[in-house]
Amino acid sequence: MSEADCLFCRIVAKEIPAEIVYETDRALAFRDVNPQAPTHVLVIPKGHYRDAAALAAADHGLADEVIRVAHEVALREGVVESGYRLVFNTGPGAGQTVFHVHGHVLGGRGLQWPPG
Ligand code: AMP
Repeated sequence: MSEADCLFCRIVAKEIPAEIVYETDRALAFRDVNPQAPTHVLVIPKGHYRDAAALAAADHGLADEVIRVAHEVALREGVVESGYRLVFNTGPGAGQTVFHVHGHVLGGRGLQWPPG
């Protein structure tokens, strides 16, 4: 499943460059172009799903894999001990701007809670 005009599908297809930090058969992790923390990596399924709810309703195990990949990225970035945040903005009202589900892995600095 892919959408020709989807930015993240185009990154999966290598039509748009990205700094890939980790990859499995079904998921891809790459650095956010506008990082909000020293570690700011986006984790996506390679297939196109609009948001976290669509991903959860999809193939068995794919949402689990995205979360496993997010944790692997956090390990590789060295932010597990200090703590990291995994955020899925869902819907425009929550700040989702790219409608191909992505988890933001944020770490490497103090992360306030609740977020602003
Ligand atoms: P969201 O606002 O939750 O939909 O997050 C979209 C994220 O995608 C933002 O943090 C952007 O900085 C990031 N982004 C947009 N274009 C690119 C790109 N070409 N490569 C990497 N990250 C991107």
